[in-house]
Amino acid sequence: MWVRKRLDIRWSDLGSALRDCLTQWNRAALADDLEDLWSAACDAFACLSVRTGFDLWLKALALPPGSEVLVSAITIPDMVRIIEAHGLVPVPVDVDPDDLSVDRESLERAVSPRTRAILVAHLFGTRQPLEPILEVARQHGLFVAEDCAQAFAGRHYTGHPQADVTMFSFGTIKTATALGGALLCVRDAEVLSRMRQLEAEYPLQLREAFAKRVFKYGLMKLMSYGLPFAALVWTMRLLGQDPERFVTGLTRGFPGPELLPLIRRQPSAPLLALMHRRIAFFNRRTLARRTQRGERLLSLLPPTVPSTGSRSKEHSFWVFPVLHDEPDRLILRLFNAGFDASRAHSLYVVPPPADRPELRATMAEAMLPLIVNLPCYGEMPDFELRHLADEVSASVWPKTWPGPRVHTKSRSDVTPIGSRLQKGSP
Ligand SMILES: *Cc1c(COP(=O)(O)O)cnc(C)c1O
Repeated sequence: MWVRKRLDIRWSDLGSALRDCLTQWNRAALADDLEDLWSAACDAFACLSVRTGFDLWLKALALPPGSEVLVSAITIPDMVRIIEAHGLVPVPVDVDPDDLSVDRESLERAVSPRTRAILVAHLFGTRQPLEPILEVARQHGLFVAEDCAQAFAGRHYTGHPQADVTMFSFGTIKTATALGGALLCVRDAEVLSRMRQLEAEYPLQLREAFAKRVFKYGLMKLMSYGLPFAALVWTMRLLGQDPERFVTGLTRGFPGPELLPLIRRQPSAPLLALMHRRIAFFNRRTLARRTQRGERLLSLLPPTVPSTGSRSKEHSFWVFPVLHDEPDRLILRLFNAGFDASRAHSLYVVPPPADRPELRATMAEAMLPLIVNLPCYGEMPDFELRHLADEVSASVWPKTWPGPRVHTKSRSDVTPIGSRLQKGSP
């Protein structure tokens, strides 16, 4: 069984993490070292998670209640909950399914006199150009927050220099995971210093809690070798449980409804040490291999099953999403063939404010329910990718079935996925 995703961490990293839990550290010096490693410009900030950092940034900005924050329409629900927790109003901005960039027209339409900021997420391993967004932000005097949680590809890109804040996550399912932690670049020194003051009042993440995470994800890593995982899924199905929910729950960083108390903590020293290790020894070749596997799979798939984001200029294939009219049928078929594909459960489409329903992100809403993430990573040999692609091809109806609610196009055809989604059923 090829599991949906492998934890991107080696046994040696987990071993050092356990050792680090027993080491006496000068936590402040460790944080300084890590921040210097990330950015030479003294603007880096290491914290417990992207959600912690984003929450602190909003606290430090203290925007007037009722201010609107534009949000690229597909993201994790917690980011939106945090915006709302500050008395601010999230407003969706639609995304282009071909390259996952923010739709310029939708962006300009969403701006109002109350808009103060925009939060842009780079999705699935792609990175969209920020210039068009910065331009609109300059025109309207908006803060720009860049969410790179899914886009880490090495230290050569730590954020656009003109974004007000850029956030990278080292959470459990992310590239080069440190089982938590985040690195931000905050351009305004005053804002950064306020964030540090605010964070200093938070309780410290306990070493014991971090050590527990190391054990838990060690176990998950063991499971990801396929056989134990398949056994777990079959057992859960037999017991009438939903394995899908169970797995998503396991990898969620802060489960349950009490989000804010859980994210408002300072990172423990061993977490900072592991982040430092992951970044300092980041292996570009492993990432290059993953990217190459992604490109290879892309070349094998039929045009009737498009991969959203495939037209992005920067793509490291953190995940490999395809659009399919019957996601559950595809997932079942692939499972029986030994591939654990999954839906994009952890993401959602940002709803419009109640009084502006015309701002619904129709493209994102059409696309997200059709997404199936295929297992695709460096360890997968070519014949398995071909097998996977064959199964995907065989899952589309023969002859007349045109792909996700569209008509037949060859891959070289330039008709964007977007317009195909919009046309509805043929
Ligand atoms: C994972 C993720 C986050 C949250 O990162 P944490 O460090 O776990 O808080 C935020 N945004 C996106 C798009 C993500 O994928």
